[in-house]
Amino acid sequence: MTAFIEAASPHLMNTYGRVPIALARGQGCRIWDVNGKEYLDGLSGIAVNTLGHNHPRLVPALQQQLTQLIHGSNYYHAPLQEALAAKLVQLSGMSNVYFCNSGLEANEAAIKIARKYGVDRGHAKPEIVVCEKAFHGRSIATMSATGNPRISSGFGPLLEGFVRVPPNDIQALERAGADRPDVVAVFFETIQGEGGIHPMRIEYLQQVRRLCDERGWLMMIDEVQCGMGRTGQWFAHQWAGIRPDVMPLAKGLGSGVPIGAVVAGPRAAQVLQPGQHGSTFGGNLLAMRAGLETIRIMEEDGLLQHVATVGGQLKAALERALGPLPGVKEIRGQGLMLGIELGRPCTVLVGRAAEAGLLLSVTADSVIRLVPPLILSSAEADEIVAKLVPLVKTLLAESE
Ligand SMILES: *Cc1c(COP(=O)(O)O)cnc(C)c1O
Repeated sequence: MTAFIEAASPHLMNTYGRVPIALARGQGCRIWDVNGKEYLDGLSGIAVNTLGHNHPRLVPALQQQLTQLIHGSNYYHAPLQEALAAKLVQLSGMSNVYFCNSGLEANEAAIKIARKYGVDRGHAKPEIVVCEKAFHGRSIATMSATGNPRISSGFGPLLEGFVRVPPNDIQALERAGADRPDVVAVFFETIQGEGGIHPMRIEYLQQVRRLCDERGWLMMIDEVQCGMGRTGQWFAHQWAGIRPDVMPLAKGLGSGVPIGAVVAGPRAAQVLQPGQHGSTFGGNLLAMRAGLETIRIMEEDGLLQHVATVGGQLKAALERALGPLPGVKEIRGQGLMLGIELGRPCTVLVGRAAEAGLLLSVTADSVIRLVPPLILSSAEADEIVAKLVPLVKTLLAESE
């Protein structure tokens, strides 16, 4: 029997434009809907399901944790928090971690750290430099940092204290700093995700690091989407051989269990003191266990190397099949965070791909985004290409 999916749910707020299918279960990189139709997962719940679905080592670990303790409280010590923090410190080369529950929460904490850092240095109204096309979340503060009027329009007044510059333009950043004495931090994504898969150049990352050191600014890098192995390094900025002072994480860290974290280096790690920030759920034990096991399995299975290999293969195959087409502007990204920019809007592809048995998303209207689970096999990468290419060709042959 085919389950009928209502166009709009009568009891949910109408906050999402949804594809008319309902997902029921998953295994590896496959998902089945309530009618039993199979999909290849090219989206991972938006870069969340690092280890795919129903992972044979993650799930038993989570089941075991459920029987121990799901939630304690930050009134008390939590060895699992310490263990995951130690691991993140080891992987990042940074020094201390604050745990929360989502990407925007991690970014809120980063913004508070930057402001407090500035106030501690005598800036009554500290300012943070952010980027055009940035996406940092949908709370009032993170939406104000986000560079997309479509996200913030209707929710003013926005928060002050953000200065916007174009990405990958070190002169613009220098000018912003020269004009504004209260700048205390720079905040951007290593690869802009929602903005359309726009990577920061390696030299730009290195130049920003030098400028932040010269000026005493915090270098804050939002790795909520591009972090946790997605590009083939633990953190995408590591391709540039630099370390930020503040790094928000979330999405892929818990492989599907909600979690957020802010990793801080020595300059920022002691800024927040008892009573200045916190979260009831932050550091929840189930989430901590999910983070620890995700990283452990990634290490045991050599997933970083795997992502570099299979991601390279996927990108090369997309370039071969789509690169020469006149309607394809650019294929960007690294590892398993890839974007195919078309010369026309293509959000219609999300539904058409689902019909063809492939889950993907479109960002910035005209960029097809592929962020599959990091366990994607080489055969599954080929299957993504085989499913996607005819859809793109058909779309490009249609008039707008
Ligand atoms: C998704 C995302 C966020 C927001 O994360 P939520 O968990 O949805 O609040 C912030 N920054 C970046 C770069 C993201 O991709």
